[in-house]
Amino acid sequence: MPLKELLLFNNEGKHLTYSQYLSTNEWMSKREEIIKRDNFQCTQCKKKDTIDNYDPITKKTEHLWLIDNGVVYLGGDTASVNSVFVSADKHYHLEVHHTRYILNRLPWDYKNEDLITFCNHCHTEFHLHHKVPVYSGDESTELEYEPCPKCNGKGYIPDYFNVQNGICFQCRGEKYIIPII
Ligand SMILES: [Zn+2]
Ligand SMILES: [Zn+2]
Ligand SMILES: [Zn+2]
Repeated sequence: MPLKELLLFNNEGKHLTYSQYLSTNEWMSKREEIIKRDNFQCTQCKKKDTIDNYDPITKKTEHLWLIDNGVVYLGGDTASVNSVFVSADKHYHLEVHHTRYILNRLPWDYKNEDLITFCNHCHTEFHLHHKVPVYSGDESTELEYEPCPKCNGKGYIPDYFNVQNGICFQCRGEKYIIPII
């Protein structure tokens, strides 16, 4: 839902969580824009979203890429009749990463150059090894912000994806010990 509605729904003035901000239409359309710019693929490993098929008989999930007319399906509404499935080693989904944060800035209120597409694996890997800098509201100073030790500042934990969408239970998706927004 749009931010305006979410604020009303949430009783105006009450603090929204970072994951609530990421559920807004505003973030969804920014996210789409960045993923489209990055060719619907991870900028690190070049992998695209998989389609995951659960087989109730074998109780296994198979991960597939849909290849359409020779290229991995690029999203959009429908695939053509010529599409084929190719099996993938694991589940992949694309996520949009902020290369820096600005204090009190809405997640979509960033220049496109501050955002980049990663798959879930490269994204987790990135946060394990890098700290995303947080800048003051006027963007002039880098602030001392301690990332959440549980999720390393990613906001969610991949192993718990089936529990509350994997939102980190220590920082509740806020990424830092003190929320940035
Ligand atoms: Zn990747
Ligand atoms: Zn990130
Ligand atoms: Zn956390």
